[in-house]
Amino acid sequence: MLQRSFMDNRNKTAITFGELTYSYEQLRDRIKRVANGLAKRGIKKGDRVALMLPNCPQYPVSYFAILSLGAIVVQVNPSYKPPELLHILNDSGAKGIVLLDEVRSVFQTIEHDTEVKWAVGVSLKDSSDFDKLLKDERKEPSNVAIEPKEDVAVIQYTGGTTGRSKGAMLTHYNLVANTLQLAANHGEKNGDSRVLTISPLFHVNGMTAGMNLAFYKGGNIILVSRFDVEEVANIIEREKPTRFPGVPTMYTALLQYYQQKPFDISSLNFCTCGSAPLPVEVINKFNSITGVSIAEGYGLSEASPTTHRNPIDGLQKRGSIGITLPNTKAKIVDSTTGEQELSQGNVGELIIRGPQVMKGYYRMPEETKQTLRNGWLYTGDLASVDEDGYYYIVGRKKEMILASGFNVYPIEVEDVIYKHPAVYEAAVIGVPDPYRGETVRAVIVKKEGSDATKEELLAYCHENLSSYKVPKLISFVEELPKTAVGKILKRELVEAEKTK
Ligand code: ATP
Repeated sequence: MLQRSFMDNRNKTAITFGELTYSYEQLRDRIKRVANGLAKRGIKKGDRVALMLPNCPQYPVSYFAILSLGAIVVQVNPSYKPPELLHILNDSGAKGIVLLDEVRSVFQTIEHDTEVKWAVGVSLKDSSDFDKLLKDERKEPSNVAIEPKEDVAVIQYTGGTTGRSKGAMLTHYNLVANTLQLAANHGEKNGDSRVLTISPLFHVNGMTAGMNLAFYKGGNIILVSRFDVEEVANIIEREKPTRFPGVPTMYTALLQYYQQKPFDISSLNFCTCGSAPLPVEVINKFNSITGVSIAEGYGLSEASPTTHRNPIDGLQKRGSIGITLPNTKAKIVDSTTGEQELSQGNVGELIIRGPQVMKGYYRMPEETKQTLRNGWLYTGDLASVDEDGYYYIVGRKKEMILASGFNVYPIEVEDVIYKHPAVYEAAVIGVPDPYRGETVRAVIVKKEGSDATKEELLAYCHENLSSYKVPKLISFVEELPKTAVGKILKRELVEAEKTK
């Protein structure tokens, strides 16, 4: 599918990275050379090759070169520490690794405990090992037969937000399906000509909603390797992107920056957001202040990732993750038994069925059985659905707080706290309490210069929430711990509580 797009769009720009651009033809040329170079290093169908890179042109080149050999991309976050990298390399049985020169020392500390046979370094500034791969022959790599529904294209390790990460096996069919489903969600609204790609490509959302979708539409990805709000504002003015698939923390930062220093954002036809809850207040303000709308969606590594989105061309409900994508079924079931389907408005576990749902976890039959039951993907997220078929996530099953026997859903409390003018970011967690079982704690980052007190925030929460939902404990912090994609790491906040 993408091959056809690469041929049809030969002379169009595929990638922009600072001053550097590649046309589709140049991209194809590099993919072929690198595929030949990897084949010479012994890579063949079914082999796993790790990619430990930030967003840079070498990423898509390596990714498609690996896929064209029928080999499997193992996605690795370049900020991983040695134990995390060791886990992924050994779990996946990677044969080779393409990595950023700056993280080679991390790899070297664990290299001898892995099966990895070779490492190719990438430099964003100078020449590197990777250039040798690029000098390989341009000939068509020998044709490999791919069984789209059977053959795994990518092992996507889950974010590890709640625990040790597991490798979701995404087949070629899964990835193509999700790309087409997202294209359908955009309807007639054009956003794909210039796609601001800051969300990391090693994360499933950047890979599918950023890179694969843009390439399928013959668009130009504007690659940015790290999120610095001022730099991103400059890039938006200079590069004039038409679409931005972002995550909540990016929108929060861009909104605050825009309020202090407005910049020209008018090229954006629309923005999309997923990966974590997007506070309604942020959508409302972003839209009213910048004039650009954000459509929230939902997904998970196990579903390539997207299963729900507010339609770009249709009714968008703020606070909702939208409707199911085409060919996707969803149900809300009793979260204890996982069986009985609940009616509209009731909160239960969200389960999903569709062509984008993974084949299983790599070498984890037990976990696969728990997560994939009778063809349904059990997401571990609690949600409800309204009369129009719009879904609302209320939190992860694991993060629900049981305070004095009442269920408290962190997202609901966070949404209220975000509306307070002094609040920049907030996270709500449950902490052990001898009387209530658990109690609600809010960890808040205040806006710069704000002198709001805990008492003031507490009084505000009392005015806007029933008393069992009101945080009994409030703490102010300078910043919240986050994953590489900008998700708030509640697990770390909970751990920090235990050591207090
Ligand atoms: P791990 O499974 O290893 O703990 P993770 O769940 O963060 O990590 P991902 O696959 O990156 O792994 O993220 C999927 C999760 O992100 C979903 O299960 C859900 O909890 C959360 N999520 C995604 N989109 C949204 C959204 N729009 N609103 C609320 N939560 C969301």
